Amino acid sequence: MIPYGRQSIDEADIDAVVASLRSAWLTQGPQVPAFEQAVAKYCQCAHAVAVSNATAALHLACLALDIGPGDVVWTSPNTFVASANCARYCGAEVDFVDIDPDTLNMSVPALADKLAAASQAGRLPKAIIPVHFSGRSCDMKEIARLARQHGIHIIEDASHAIGASHAGRPVGCCEYSDITVFSFHPVKIITSGEGGMALTGNPEIAARLTRLRSHGISRDPSVMTSPPDGDWYYQQIELGFNYRMTDIQAALGLSQLAKLACFVERRRQLAERYTKHLARLPLILPMASDSSAWHLYVVQLPGSADCRQRIFDKMRAAGIGVNVHYIPVHRQPYYRNLGFNDGDFPTAEAYYRHALTLPLYPDLTDSEQDTVMQALETMLVTEGF
Ligand SMILES: *Cc1c(COP(=O)(O)O)cnc(C)c1O
Repeated sequence: MIPYGRQSIDEADIDAVVASLRSAWLTQGPQVPAFEQAVAKYCQCAHAVAVSNATAALHLACLALDIGPGDVVWTSPNTFVASANCARYCGAEVDFVDIDPDTLNMSVPALADKLAAASQAGRLPKAIIPVHFSGRSCDMKEIARLARQHGIHIIEDASHAIGASHAGRPVGCCEYSDITVFSFHPVKIITSGEGGMALTGNPEIAARLTRLRSHGISRDPSVMTSPPDGDWYYQQIELGFNYRMTDIQAALGLSQLAKLACFVERRRQLAERYTKHLARLPLILPMASDSSAWHLYVVQLPGSADCRQRIFDKMRAAGIGVNVHYIPVHRQPYYRNLGFNDGDFPTAEAYYRHALTLPLYPDLTDSEQDTVMQALETMLVTEGF
């Protein structure tokens, strides 16, 4: 089976994990801050806080921006459910901004229109969570310009996009956002097994994220309500969680980070190869990009949703692990129960009916990729295209 995505683990990664297992620390040792500092440096950002996964990072990002009951948070419908759920964890309401049919990211004109209407209605969101779908950055400059007019916070869900860049700077630099979140799940660009990170240029937000990831506890006398009783002393300042990353995970993440540029380069090569060879088929292909991290390569098939279903099933039966990204979040039963309906975000829904994610990961060989492309071509012909 050729999967749609998978990790690339080499001997250096294995050695790094083994070394951490032989060390004095399995968690809260030197590897976590080393990984944080390396990611912060790579992204040209001042602070990075490692956590157990990107969902936890999104949750803490919302808490660190004081999002709570009575607030509204907007995200893209074309994302994994976690981008919306993080606001629900905090008791906030979620709403969506439809996507741009070309980039498949949050549409800037749709955002502008929705902000104008929300401003009129006195119901502006407290934060917007743009998602860099497939590793391609959203138009952060424009999104930030619109958000800043209304004092709205921005959390970038960059789960797909470590290694990508925007306007000449790395995604994660936080030039256009309060916080940027990465995922290190094995299908993402680099992995720590499970893992996530929140980056921010704001030292107070960084301190808050750090406190919240470990029960809301602080050892910093300057934030305590009374002088410390002694060296053992800590205070729980607020309600936090155990969202810590282990040293074992951080050792793997740090070792993977050294290969990030190679991974992204190979992904880009494979994406260009797909685009070159698939151009003559009746497909909508991803827009070319030198700055995407190429987490996903999604084609849009011709014909009906049934045709997509048949091609999906036949590709899977042929041992090709195609996938579909994403079922629009507002169509999930949980969100339907909150009042969303079919037709609310028509561009995301129309895209979804035709979308098919093809295998893309650094270890995919040219010949495996040829197999994928030949199978797809045969199936399109069988469908009469
Ligand atoms: C994978 C993913 C997440 C969640 O990441 P985890 O590390 O698995 O919690 C959130 N948002 C998007 C867009 C993702 O793709």
